[in-house]
Amino acid sequence: MTGTDSTHSPVPFPGRRDPRTPAHTHASGHAPASGHAPAVRCGIVPPYLLARLATVDDPRFSGAAEAARRSLRVDDPIRSLRSAAPHATALPVPPAAVPGVTRRTISDAQHLQTLPGRVVRTEGQPPAADVAVNEAYTGLGDTHQLFWSRYQRDSIDGRGLPLDATVHYGQSYDNAFWDGERMVFGDGDGEVFNRFTISLSVIAHELTHGVTQYSANLVYQGQSGALNESVSDVFGALVEQYALGQDTAAASWLIGAGLFTDEVQGQALRSMKAPGTAYNDDVLGTDPQPDSMDGYVDTEDDYGGVHLNSGIPNRAFYLVADALGGNAWDAPGQIWYDTLTGPDLTATATFAVFARATETAAVTRYGRGSLEHEAVRTGWDGVGIALDPLRAAS
Ligand SMILES: [Zn+2]
Repeated sequence: MTGTDSTHSPVPFPGRRDPRTPAHTHASGHAPASGHAPAVRCGIVPPYLLARLATVDDPRFSGAAEAARRSLRVDDPIRSLRSAAPHATALPVPPAAVPGVTRRTISDAQHLQTLPGRVVRTEGQPPAADVAVNEAYTGLGDTHQLFWSRYQRDSIDGRGLPLDATVHYGQSYDNAFWDGERMVFGDGDGEVFNRFTISLSVIAHELTHGVTQYSANLVYQGQSGALNESVSDVFGALVEQYALGQDTAAASWLIGAGLFTDEVQGQALRSMKAPGTAYNDDVLGTDPQPDSMDGYVDTEDDYGGVHLNSGIPNRAFYLVADALGGNAWDAPGQIWYDTLTGPDLTATATFAVFARATETAAVTRYGRGSLEHEAVRTGWDGVGIALDPLRAAS
Protein backbone atom coordinates (compact mmCIF):
# COMPACT_ATOMS: atom_id res chain seq x y z
CA MET A 1 0.00 0.00 0.00
CA THR A 2 1.64 3.15 -1.08
CA GLY A 3 0.71 6.52 -2.27
CA THR A 4 -2.47 8.43 -1.82
CA ASP A 5 -4.68 6.65 -4.26
CA SER A 6 -5.15 3.23 -2.75
CA THR A 7 -8.06 1.70 -1.03
CA HIS A 8 -7.81 -1.23 1.33
CA SER A 9 -10.61 -3.32 -0.07
CA PRO A 10 -9.61 -6.39 -2.04
CA VAL A 11 -10.56 -5.13 -5.44
CA PRO A 12 -8.71 -6.04 -8.63
CA PHE A 13 -5.40 -4.41 -9.27
CA PRO A 14 -6.31 -1.35 -11.26
CA GLY A 15 -3.25 -1.89 -13.45
CA ARG A 16 -5.04 -4.27 -15.74
CA ARG A 17 -5.39 -3.21 -19.28
CA ASP A 18 -6.48 -4.64 -22.54
CA PRO A 19 -3.30 -5.96 -24.14
CA ARG A 20 -4.42 -4.48 -27.43
CA THR A 21 -4.30 -0.94 -26.12
CA PRO A 22 -1.14 1.00 -25.36
CA ALA A 23 0.05 -0.03 -21.95
CA HIS A 24 1.69 3.12 -20.78
CA THR A 25 -1.24 5.44 -20.94
CA HIS A 26 -1.87 4.60 -17.33
CA ALA A 27 1.01 2.36 -16.39
CA SER A 28 2.61 5.15 -14.47
CA GLY A 29 1.73 8.55 -13.31
CA HIS A 30 -0.30 8.03 -10.15
CA ALA A 31 -3.37 9.81 -11.31
CA PRO A 32 -5.24 10.00 -8.03
CA ALA A 33 -8.57 9.05 -9.57
CA SER A 34 -7.37 5.90 -11.30
CA GLY A 35 -4.07 5.07 -9.61
CA HIS A 36 -2.51 1.72 -10.24
CA ALA A 37 -1.03 0.64 -6.95
CA PRO A 38 -2.62 -2.64 -5.93
CA ALA A 39 -5.31 -2.44 -3.33
CA VAL A 40 -3.60 -5.29 -1.51
CA ARG A 41 0.02 -5.44 -0.51
CA CYS A 42 1.04 -8.93 -1.56
CA GLY A 43 3.54 -9.89 1.09
CA ILE A 44 5.36 -13.20 0.67
CA VAL A 45 4.80 -14.09 4.34
CA PRO A 46 1.11 -14.70 5.01
CA PRO A 47 -0.47 -12.77 7.87
CA TYR A 48 -1.34 -15.90 9.85
CA LEU A 49 2.34 -16.80 10.11
CA LEU A 50 3.33 -13.36 11.35
CA ALA A 51 0.36 -13.31 13.73
CA ARG A 52 1.53 -16.57 15.27
CA LEU A 53 5.10 -15.36 15.54
CA ALA A 54 3.88 -12.13 17.13
CA THR A 55 2.43 -14.04 20.09
CA VAL A 56 5.45 -16.24 20.75
CA ASP A 57 6.46 -16.00 24.40
CA ASP A 58 9.96 -17.44 24.27
CA PRO A 59 12.99 -15.37 25.18
CA ARG A 60 14.97 -16.93 22.34
CA PHE A 61 12.60 -15.31 19.88
CA SER A 62 11.68 -12.09 21.65
CA GLY A 63 13.28 -10.06 18.88
CA ALA A 64 11.41 -12.03 16.22
CA ALA A 65 8.10 -11.63 18.07
CA GLU A 66 8.56 -7.89 18.32
CA ALA A 67 9.61 -7.72 14.65
CA ALA A 68 6.52 -9.71 13.67
CA ARG A 69 4.24 -7.36 15.61
CA ARG A 70 5.88 -4.38 13.93
CA SER A 71 5.66 -6.05 10.50
CA LEU A 72 1.95 -6.72 10.97
CA ARG A 73 1.41 -3.05 11.76
CA VAL A 74 3.35 -2.08 8.64
CA ASP A 75 1.35 -4.53 6.53
CA ASP A 76 -1.97 -3.30 7.83
CA PRO A 77 -3.43 -1.55 4.80
CA ILE A 78 -5.05 1.31 6.69
CA ARG A 79 -2.03 2.02 8.80
CA SER A 80 0.35 1.85 5.89
CA LEU A 81 -1.94 4.10 3.90
CA ARG A 82 -1.55 6.62 6.69
CA SER A 83 2.16 6.22 7.12
CA ALA A 84 3.34 5.86 3.57
CA ALA A 85 4.87 8.87 1.98
CA PRO A 86 3.26 9.68 -1.36
CA HIS A 87 5.35 8.85 -4.38
CA ALA A 88 6.70 11.59 -6.48
CA THR A 89 4.57 11.89 -9.57
CA ALA A 90 6.15 9.80 -12.28
CA LEU A 91 5.86 10.48 -15.94
CA PRO A 92 4.72 7.67 -18.25
CA VAL A 93 7.63 5.42 -19.05
CA PRO A 94 8.41 5.11 -22.75
CA PRO A 95 8.79 1.61 -24.15
CA ALA A 96 12.30 0.26 -24.11
CA ALA A 97 14.28 1.31 -27.16
CA VAL A 98 15.77 -2.16 -27.37
CA PRO A 99 13.35 -4.94 -26.47
CA GLY A 100 14.47 -7.48 -23.92
CA VAL A 101 17.01 -5.29 -22.18
CA THR A 102 16.67 -5.02 -18.41
CA ARG A 103 16.55 -1.59 -16.79
CA ARG A 104 17.06 -2.11 -13.09
CA THR A 105 17.31 0.38 -10.25
CA ILE A 106 17.96 -0.74 -6.68
CA SER A 107 17.33 1.70 -3.84
CA ASP A 108 18.09 1.54 -0.13
CA ALA A 109 15.36 2.61 2.30
CA GLN A 110 18.00 2.80 5.06
CA HIS A 111 15.59 1.12 7.51
CA LEU A 112 12.89 3.72 7.04
CA GLN A 113 9.46 3.01 5.57
CA THR A 114 9.77 5.67 2.94
CA LEU A 115 9.88 4.62 -0.70
CA PRO A 116 11.79 4.47 -2.91
CA GLY A 117 14.85 5.39 -0.79
CA ARG A 118 18.32 6.26 -2.00
CA VAL A 119 19.44 4.83 -5.35
CA VAL A 120 22.41 2.53 -4.79
CA ARG A 121 22.79 0.49 -7.99
CA THR A 122 21.51 1.03 -11.51
CA GLU A 123 21.66 -1.05 -14.67
CA GLY A 124 25.17 -2.00 -15.71
CA GLN A 125 26.87 -0.80 -12.55
CA PRO A 126 29.27 -3.21 -10.83
CA PRO A 127 28.21 -5.07 -7.70
CA ALA A 128 27.81 -3.04 -4.53
CA ALA A 129 29.35 -3.93 -1.18
CA ASP A 130 25.85 -4.71 0.11
CA VAL A 131 24.75 -8.32 -0.50
CA ALA A 132 21.04 -7.43 -0.37
CA VAL A 133 21.52 -4.89 -3.14
CA ASN A 134 23.27 -7.44 -5.32
CA GLU A 135 20.77 -10.22 -4.62
CA ALA A 136 17.91 -7.92 -5.56
CA TYR A 137 19.69 -6.78 -8.72
CA THR A 138 20.47 -10.34 -9.82
CA GLY A 139 17.01 -11.60 -8.89
CA LEU A 140 15.28 -8.94 -10.96
CA GLY A 141 17.53 -9.86 -13.87
CA ASP A 142 16.86 -13.60 -13.50
CA THR A 143 13.13 -12.96 -13.47
CA HIS A 144 13.27 -10.77 -16.54
CA GLN A 145 15.41 -13.40 -18.23
CA LEU A 146 12.89 -16.23 -17.85
CA PHE A 147 9.91 -14.20 -19.07
CA TRP A 148 11.84 -12.76 -21.99
CA SER A 149 13.81 -15.76 -23.18
CA ARG A 150 11.08 -18.39 -22.74
CA TYR A 151 7.82 -16.50 -23.20
CA GLN A 152 8.95 -13.42 -25.15
CA ARG A 153 7.50 -11.15 -22.49
CA ASP A 154 9.56 -7.99 -22.13
CA SER A 155 9.40 -7.24 -18.40
CA ILE A 156 6.36 -7.07 -16.15
CA ASP A 157 4.17 -5.12 -18.53
CA GLY A 158 5.44 -6.74 -21.73
CA ARG A 159 6.82 -3.36 -22.84
CA GLY A 160 10.15 -3.25 -21.08
CA LEU A 161 8.97 -1.63 -17.88
CA PRO A 162 12.00 -0.70 -15.76
CA LEU A 163 12.39 -2.97 -12.75
CA ASP A 164 12.73 -1.17 -9.46
CA ALA A 165 13.41 -2.56 -6.02
CA THR A 166 14.04 -1.22 -2.54
CA VAL A 167 16.06 -3.08 0.08
CA HIS A 168 16.46 -2.51 3.84
CA TYR A 169 12.85 -1.45 4.20
CA GLY A 170 11.80 -0.77 7.79
CA GLN A 171 13.27 -2.08 11.03
CA SER A 172 13.79 -5.86 10.98
CA TYR A 173 10.81 -5.97 8.65
CA ASP A 174 9.60 -9.56 8.21
CA ASN A 175 8.26 -9.46 4.68
CA ALA A 176 8.79 -8.62 1.04
CA PHE A 177 6.09 -7.26 -1.22
CA TRP A 178 5.19 -5.88 -4.62
CA ASP A 179 3.41 -2.55 -4.19
CA GLY A 180 2.13 -2.16 -7.71
CA GLU A 181 5.28 -0.62 -9.07
CA ARG A 182 8.28 -1.87 -7.15
CA MET A 183 9.65 -4.77 -5.12
CA VAL A 184 10.28 -4.02 -1.48
CA PHE A 185 12.43 -6.23 0.77
CA GLY A 186 12.76 -6.30 4.55
CA ASP A 187 15.86 -7.48 6.35
CA GLY A 188 14.03 -10.04 8.49
CA ASP A 189 14.36 -10.27 12.24
CA GLY A 190 17.48 -12.47 12.17
CA GLU A 191 16.00 -14.96 14.66
CA VAL A 192 13.31 -16.60 12.53
CA PHE A 193 13.56 -14.86 9.17
CA ASN A 194 16.71 -14.06 7.23
CA ARG A 195 16.88 -11.16 4.79
CA PHE A 196 14.22 -11.51 2.10
CA THR A 197 16.52 -11.06 -0.89
CA ILE A 198 18.11 -14.39 0.00
CA SER A 199 15.50 -16.35 -1.96
CA LEU A 200 15.23 -16.02 -5.73
CA SER A 201 11.80 -17.67 -5.69
CA VAL A 202 10.60 -14.90 -3.35
CA ILE A 203 11.89 -12.18 -5.67
CA ALA A 204 10.34 -13.83 -8.72
CA HIS A 205 7.09 -14.51 -6.84
CA GLU A 206 6.66 -10.83 -6.06
CA LEU A 207 7.54 -9.65 -9.56
CA THR A 208 5.05 -12.14 -10.99
CA HIS A 209 2.35 -10.33 -9.02
CA GLY A 210 3.24 -7.47 -11.35
CA VAL A 211 2.89 -9.68 -14.43
CA THR A 212 -0.53 -10.81 -13.20
CA GLN A 213 -1.49 -7.20 -12.52
CA TYR A 214 -0.73 -6.39 -16.16
CA SER A 215 -2.45 -9.49 -17.57
CA ALA A 216 -5.27 -11.53 -16.00
CA ASN A 217 -5.40 -9.23 -12.96
CA LEU A 218 -6.87 -11.97 -10.79
CA VAL A 219 -8.87 -10.48 -7.92
CA TYR A 220 -7.02 -10.96 -4.63
CA GLN A 221 -9.86 -12.68 -2.82
CA GLY A 222 -11.04 -16.27 -2.51
CA GLN A 223 -10.24 -18.67 -5.36
CA SER A 224 -9.08 -16.02 -7.82
CA GLY A 225 -6.84 -14.69 -5.06
CA ALA A 226 -5.43 -18.14 -4.42
CA LEU A 227 -4.82 -18.42 -8.17
CA ASN A 228 -3.05 -15.05 -8.09
CA GLU A 229 -0.83 -16.42 -5.31
CA SER A 230 -0.32 -19.72 -7.11
CA VAL A 231 0.70 -18.10 -10.39
CA SER A 232 3.34 -16.16 -8.46
CA ASP A 233 4.58 -19.37 -6.87
CA VAL A 234 4.64 -21.14 -10.25
CA PHE A 235 6.79 -18.53 -11.94
CA GLY A 236 8.74 -17.93 -8.73
CA ALA A 237 9.77 -21.58 -8.83
CA LEU A 238 10.36 -21.53 -12.59
CA VAL A 239 12.67 -18.51 -12.41
CA GLU A 240 14.73 -20.30 -9.77
CA GLN A 241 14.77 -23.57 -11.73
CA TYR A 242 15.76 -21.77 -14.93
CA ALA A 243 18.55 -19.84 -13.21
CA LEU A 244 19.88 -23.03 -11.59
CA GLY A 245 19.37 -25.21 -14.67
CA GLN A 246 17.24 -27.68 -12.71
CA ASP A 247 14.74 -29.97 -14.38
CA THR A 248 11.51 -31.07 -12.73
CA ALA A 249 13.11 -34.02 -10.98
CA ALA A 250 16.07 -32.03 -9.63
CA ALA A 251 14.13 -28.97 -8.50
CA SER A 252 13.17 -28.40 -4.86
CA TRP A 253 9.73 -26.95 -5.70
CA LEU A 254 10.09 -24.87 -2.56
CA ILE A 255 9.07 -21.22 -2.26
CA GLY A 256 11.31 -19.21 0.01
CA ALA A 257 14.10 -21.71 0.62
CA GLY A 258 16.72 -20.06 2.82
CA LEU A 259 14.31 -17.56 4.36
CA PHE A 260 14.14 -19.36 7.69
CA THR A 261 17.11 -19.26 10.02
CA ASP A 262 18.59 -22.49 11.36
CA GLU A 263 16.39 -22.06 14.44
CA VAL A 264 13.32 -23.07 12.44
CA GLN A 265 12.37 -26.66 11.68
CA GLY A 266 11.45 -26.08 8.08
CA GLN A 267 12.80 -25.78 4.59
CA ALA A 268 10.75 -22.93 3.19
CA LEU A 269 7.43 -21.07 3.30
CA ARG A 270 5.68 -23.43 0.91
CA SER A 271 6.18 -26.61 -1.07
CA MET A 272 4.53 -26.92 -4.47
CA LYS A 273 5.36 -30.60 -4.71
CA ALA A 274 4.01 -31.45 -1.27
CA PRO A 275 1.90 -28.60 0.10
CA GLY A 276 1.59 -28.81 3.89
CA THR A 277 5.14 -30.11 4.45
CA ALA A 278 7.32 -27.00 4.11
CA TYR A 279 7.74 -26.54 7.86
CA ASN A 280 6.81 -28.22 11.11
CA ASP A 281 8.12 -26.13 13.93
CA ASP A 282 7.30 -25.71 17.62
CA VAL A 283 7.24 -21.94 17.21
CA LEU A 284 5.71 -21.49 13.76
CA GLY A 285 3.45 -24.54 13.83
CA THR A 286 2.79 -26.76 10.84
CA ASP A 287 2.53 -25.67 7.22
CA PRO A 288 -1.28 -25.40 6.82
CA GLN A 289 -1.54 -25.67 3.03
CA PRO A 290 -3.93 -28.26 1.58
CA ASP A 291 -2.69 -30.34 -1.36
CA SER A 292 -6.09 -31.12 -2.92
CA MET A 293 -9.72 -30.02 -2.92
CA ASP A 294 -10.37 -32.48 -0.08
CA GLY A 295 -8.50 -30.11 2.20
CA TYR A 296 -9.89 -26.86 0.78
CA VAL A 297 -10.03 -24.24 3.55
CA ASP A 298 -13.09 -22.03 3.87
CA THR A 299 -11.98 -18.96 5.78
CA GLU A 300 -12.46 -15.23 5.84
CA ASP A 301 -8.87 -14.65 6.93
CA ASP A 302 -6.09 -13.68 4.55
CA TYR A 303 -8.55 -12.59 1.83
CA GLY A 304 -10.26 -15.95 1.95
CA GLY A 305 -7.21 -18.12 2.43
CA VAL A 306 -5.25 -16.99 -0.62
CA HIS A 307 -1.97 -18.31 0.82
CA LEU A 308 -3.62 -21.56 1.96
CA ASN A 309 -5.66 -22.79 -0.99
CA SER A 310 -2.93 -21.77 -3.44
CA GLY A 311 -1.41 -25.12 -2.49
CA ILE A 312 -4.04 -26.83 -4.62
CA PRO A 313 -3.26 -25.22 -8.00
CA ASN A 314 0.43 -25.23 -7.02
CA ARG A 315 0.39 -29.00 -6.78
CA ALA A 316 -1.62 -29.28 -9.98
CA PHE A 317 1.18 -27.44 -11.77
CA TYR A 318 3.80 -29.68 -10.20
CA LEU A 319 1.85 -32.77 -11.29
CA VAL A 320 1.68 -31.47 -14.87
CA ALA A 321 5.44 -30.93 -14.84
CA ASP A 322 6.00 -34.31 -13.25
CA ALA A 323 3.86 -36.03 -15.88
CA LEU A 324 5.85 -34.46 -18.70
CA GLY A 325 9.32 -34.57 -17.16
CA GLY A 326 12.14 -32.41 -18.41
CA ASN A 327 12.21 -28.69 -17.75
CA ALA A 328 9.10 -27.27 -16.15
CA TRP A 329 9.62 -23.89 -17.83
CA ASP A 330 9.03 -25.53 -21.21
CA ALA A 331 5.51 -26.87 -21.89
CA PRO A 332 4.09 -26.57 -18.35
CA GLY A 333 5.32 -23.00 -17.93
CA GLN A 334 4.23 -22.11 -21.45
CA ILE A 335 0.72 -23.43 -20.83
CA TRP A 336 0.40 -21.48 -17.57
CA TYR A 337 1.81 -18.37 -19.25
CA ASP A 338 -0.61 -18.71 -22.16
CA THR A 339 -3.44 -19.10 -19.67
CA LEU A 340 -2.43 -16.06 -17.63
CA THR A 341 -2.14 -13.85 -20.69
CA GLY A 342 -4.85 -15.43 -22.82
CA PRO A 343 -8.49 -14.56 -23.44
CA ASP A 344 -10.15 -17.24 -21.30
CA LEU A 345 -9.18 -16.09 -17.85
CA THR A 346 -11.48 -13.67 -16.10
CA ALA A 347 -10.35 -11.63 -13.12
CA THR A 348 -12.69 -13.58 -10.85
CA ALA A 349 -11.81 -17.03 -12.20
CA THR A 350 -12.43 -20.01 -9.94
CA PHE A 351 -10.10 -23.00 -9.80
CA ALA A 352 -12.41 -24.81 -12.24
CA VAL A 353 -12.38 -21.92 -14.71
CA PHE A 354 -8.61 -21.66 -14.47
CA ALA A 355 -8.19 -25.41 -14.94
CA ARG A 356 -10.37 -25.33 -18.04
CA ALA A 357 -8.36 -22.39 -19.39
CA THR A 358 -5.11 -24.33 -18.96
CA GLU A 359 -6.63 -27.22 -20.88
CA THR A 360 -7.70 -24.90 -23.68
CA ALA A 361 -4.22 -23.38 -23.73
CA ALA A 362 -2.63 -26.83 -23.93
CA VAL A 363 -4.90 -27.89 -26.79
CA THR A 364 -4.35 -24.63 -28.65
CA ARG A 365 -0.58 -24.86 -28.51
CA TYR A 366 0.09 -28.61 -28.51
CA GLY A 367 -3.06 -30.21 -29.92
CA ARG A 368 -5.97 -32.21 -28.60
CA GLY A 369 -4.82 -35.52 -27.19
CA SER A 370 -1.20 -34.39 -27.07
CA LEU A 371 1.01 -35.44 -24.18
CA GLU A 372 0.78 -31.89 -22.90
CA HIS A 373 -3.02 -31.98 -23.03
CA GLU A 374 -3.10 -35.27 -21.16
CA ALA A 375 -0.63 -33.99 -18.57
CA VAL A 376 -2.83 -31.00 -17.82
CA ARG A 377 -5.81 -33.27 -17.24
CA THR A 378 -3.68 -35.53 -15.04
CA GLY A 379 -2.47 -32.58 -13.00
CA TRP A 380 -5.90 -31.21 -12.17
CA ASP A 381 -7.31 -34.67 -11.61
CA GLY A 382 -4.55 -35.22 -9.05
CA VAL A 383 -5.84 -32.38 -6.88
CA GLY A 384 -9.51 -33.29 -7.19
CA ILE A 385 -10.51 -30.97 -10.01
CA ALA A 386 -11.98 -33.01 -12.83
CA LEU A 387 -12.16 -31.43 -16.26
CA ASP A 388 -15.46 -31.98 -17.95
CA PRO A 389 -14.74 -33.87 -21.19
CA LEU A 390 -17.74 -32.30 -22.90
CA ARG A 391 -16.66 -28.76 -22.20
CA ALA A 392 -12.98 -29.35 -22.66
CA ALA A 393 -11.22 -27.03 -25.04
CA SER A 394 -14.09 -26.41 -27.38
ZN1 LIG B 1 2.20 -13.34 -3.14
